[in-house]
Amino acid sequence: MGGGAAGLSAALLLARARRRVLICDAGQPRNRHSNRLGGFLTRDGTDPAEFRRIARDELADYDTAELRENTVITAARRFESGFELETASGEMFSGRKLLVATGVADALPPIAGIEGFYGRTVWHCPYCDGYEHRDQRIVVYGRGGKASALALELTGWTSRLMLASDGPSGLSAAQRRLLDRHKIALYEEPVARLEGAEGQLESLVFASGDSVAADALFFPSEGWADVELLRSLGVTIRRNGSVRTGGYGKTGAPGVFVAGDASRHAQLAIIAAGEGAAAAFAINTELLKQDLRHLDSAE
Ligand SMILES: Cc1cc2nc3c(=O)[nH]c(=O)nc-3n(C[C@H](O)[C@H](O)[C@H](O)COP(=O)(O)OP(=O)(O)OC[C@H]3O[C@@H](n4cnc5c(N)ncnc54)[C@H](O)[C@@H]3O)c2cc1C
Repeated sequence: MGGGAAGLSAALLLARARRRVLICDAGQPRNRHSNRLGGFLTRDGTDPAEFRRIARDELADYDTAELRENTVITAARRFESGFELETASGEMFSGRKLLVATGVADALPPIAGIEGFYGRTVWHCPYCDGYEHRDQRIVVYGRGGKASALALELTGWTSRLMLASDGPSGLSAAQRRLLDRHKIALYEEPVARLEGAEGQLESLVFASGDSVAADALFFPSEGWADVELLRSLGVTIRRNGSVRTGGYGKTGAPGVFVAGDASRHAQLAIIAAGEGAAAAFAINTELLKQDLRHLDSAE
């Protein structure tokens, strides 16, 4: 389930292990609003749509791999060590192992006009997009510890930082002192809108009419996984919404694996691809063991 970096990478390794592999993909990868993939070795700066085209092309060379563009609406364990999926278009599929590589969804901050800047000069991940804004004026939007931690993290990329909390920041005196020490200006006034042109942010405008010039805006977002689908499979979900996975994406539910952003380790495309490959390795190892046991008992 899911044909982003994690699912496609897993499918490639499974196809190379001569497994029949089906990828059901709803076609909404997390970075679809961005026009460059940063930090993916050999693909640094590639358009994410081009990245997926290359990955899908590579997979098309393997006749045991099949990609379907559809959304899985239910996934259930139907028979001993097997799964059945139903898609939004009413198709049913079954398989021996299930890899959940459905990623996460982000919620944009409620600022008027933000959509026009998202994926151009509005981001959440410094490792993905901080480099392009090095030494620029960056405003971090958000409240509480997560927003101040993101602002402090960004000191690695620029010293021209602001934190806009759009109302009371909820920060303690110690947290404020830390921001102060790193010359991060804190604005607690309500925010009205973003201004700029063609995706390039120019300023953050407050409800009072005052504004601050900014070249980029970052907000904290870990995204959220489709926990209902995961829970229905018997996967343990932590209280913070993350999936409890062991090595190689194994979950507490036999035969169910999770890879990529949905597994909530560091959320980068190259890590998602690596987790997908690791899960494929574990899936094929389990299948081999089952097949060999089956052959032994048949003799
Ligand atoms: C604005 C932005 C910029 C980013 N920039 C970078 C960057 O520069 N470098 C970097 O390394 N990372 C970047 N990232 C993070 C990167 O997008 C993720 O780490 C990566 O996409 C995770 O891969 P994944 O395969 O786990 O999930 P995704 O790529 O999100 O793929 C999951 C796929 O599963 C599909 N899916 C979901 N539910 C279902 C379902 N029920 N049935 C079928 N299919 C389903 C989705 O539609 C999607 O196609 C960025 C993220 C954002 C939001």
